[in-house]
Amino acid sequence: MKFGTKVIHAGIEPDPATGAIMTPIFQTSTYVQASPGEHQGFEYGRTQNPTRTVLENNLAALENGTHGICFGSGLSAMDAILRLLEPGDEVISTDDLYGGSYRLMTRVYGKYGLEAKFVSMQNPAELAKQITEKTKLIWIETPTNPMLNVVDITAICEVAAAKGVKVCVDNTFASPYLQTPLDMGADLVLHSATKYLGGHSDVVLGAIVVKDADLAEQLYFLQNAVGAVPGPQDCFLVLRGIKTLHLRVERACQNARKIAEALERHPSVSKVYYPGFTSHPNHETAKKQMRDFGAMVSFDLVENNFEAAKRILSGTNLFSLAESLGGVESLIGHPASMTHASIPKEERLKVGLTDSLIRLSVGIEDVDDLIEDLEKALENG
Ligand SMILES: *Cc1c(COP(=O)(O)O)cnc(C)c1O
Repeated sequence: MKFGTKVIHAGIEPDPATGAIMTPIFQTSTYVQASPGEHQGFEYGRTQNPTRTVLENNLAALENGTHGICFGSGLSAMDAILRLLEPGDEVISTDDLYGGSYRLMTRVYGKYGLEAKFVSMQNPAELAKQITEKTKLIWIETPTNPMLNVVDITAICEVAAAKGVKVCVDNTFASPYLQTPLDMGADLVLHSATKYLGGHSDVVLGAIVVKDADLAEQLYFLQNAVGAVPGPQDCFLVLRGIKTLHLRVERACQNARKIAEALERHPSVSKVYYPGFTSHPNHETAKKQMRDFGAMVSFDLVENNFEAAKRILSGTNLFSLAESLGGVESLIGHPASMTHASIPKEERLKVGLTDSLIRLSVGIEDVDDLIEDLEKALENG
């Protein structure tokens, strides 16, 4: 099946009991057994839920993996991956990653003896030198948030494989429509399905996809043993959202390109971060590993301070000032005070995350209206 067919059909069958074409929401905590141990594969709602299983199988197909494992949020999915590690182990991660991921690695798992090192990953040979016998996991986010650097997944996976280190790619920003990291050598893919997969800003959910049965078994164990599972209604909403994933992301990417070009021309804008520009330092890598360049655009202002950014952030009408991304509606955000507030200022500034940096999650509205909205805010700013 091609991608546009998988989103609608992979792992999904009409309900055998009723013929319902849509996967039912199995709103149940337990399942009746005919006699002790004699059941239909479902015993208790934390351990198994049929709506969740359909979503897990669909996600496995979209990422070209064999197993999907769903959680109550992207961060609880990440939590399960970090629980695979032991005290004293080290994870090496991209240096401008999602603030919540940084917080989980440092402030939650630091206490349990997990060591986290943050590096740029722009140079695979440099990364190879950083790997020690303590390194057990490499964590890649690409495109990165909010600087939109692109990491060469294949090159990093080659370095990691040579040293026997597993690689997880947080594929939230790209979605499986744009890139499938398991095909490039990654061992695990993480999703905040809250973003593009759900796509309608109405659900929080997380998922992991792997292609190795042993790894899947360890993660299913943690899913059940820790219990951070999503409810069936949330699984339904993500399944529903995924049905239009390809159309939404395709349109959002088209809109993002036009918006990036309009911003690039604007005199109040000092810099536009968008991997689709040939001048972007990772443009060739993005072209090689992604189907399009994504729908996230960040930009900085000539007037480089929080006050200037604030005027623009509160000056748009169609772009709503909000955390999150990946929904049908366009959002505008201020990483320094919102998504990345938990990252120390010196760390932020090192990667270009200034007080005036603005991040856009471009939606699927009419692009002319979106550009007009931004231009109006920039003029008033
Ligand atoms: C939102 C996000 C997460 C966390 O996911 P939640 O569903 O909010 O827990 C992780 N990684 C990235 C890149 C994100 O954007």
